[in-house]
Amino acid sequence: MNSLKKSVILIAIFASSFNLFSQDDPKLTEVWEPVPAIVTPGSAMSAPSDAIVLFDGSNLELWQNAEGGKAGWVVKDAILTVKPGTGIIKTKELFSDCQLHIEWRSPVKIVGEGQGRGNSGIFLQSRYELQVLDCYNNITYSNGQAGSIYKQGIPLVNACLKPGEWQIYDIIYKAPVFNEDGSLETPAYITVLHNGVLIQNHFEIKGSTEYIGQPKYKAHQKDAIILQDHGNDVSYRNIWIREL
Ligand code: MG
Repeated sequence: MNSLKKSVILIAIFASSFNLFSQDDPKLTEVWEPVPAIVTPGSAMSAPSDAIVLFDGSNLELWQNAEGGKAGWVVKDAILTVKPGTGIIKTKELFSDCQLHIEWRSPVKIVGEGQGRGNSGIFLQSRYELQVLDCYNNITYSNGQAGSIYKQGIPLVNACLKPGEWQIYDIIYKAPVFNEDGSLETPAYITVLHNGVLIQNHFEIKGSTEYIGQPKYKAHQKDAIILQDHGNDVSYRNIWIREL
């Protein structure tokens, strides 16, 4: 063995003893960049530092009605309440992928039953409804109860609180992607925690919410968050969103 070969072997032994070339080196799987941004979490009642606060209790400046006019719902005591008959309200800003936090409350006074009790809803991108309904001792079709993706996805459990108690939806939403010809490339997915309990786990949305007939996809862009007027005095508070 010549001296050059000896040197190479010695260097290899030396290097491997310090894990310089070893596949066993745990450093090989460490990723240091990018560094996640520091965000100050909110308390149960407040938004994190990088959220867009859509409703903080003061006004409906970031909302409008279906026609783009003044949102007709009632803001009182820092609470937003459906004014039946005034129609939906929707955000002025348009969104796609997002994390959405929203708190809602069914009316204390129980009126109606089934779909007629405390019905409202949150529409992602104006067309995919996460149902809001008083489902505390209130029977309805499973794929239309609180936390359902209306007529598509039954919630994993019923985590409803009593009417009059504030409830929380934490939503993680991945918008659908469309090809240039308008066909669907990837569907929308939604994950929902209801009062901290997982009720939708990366559920594949089948298409736009339909009251009658089957859901279907039609290509669209970013769109508003809509809150539904279903004729019941459902209230909302502390609404914030983080774009993803
Ligand atoms: Mg509804």
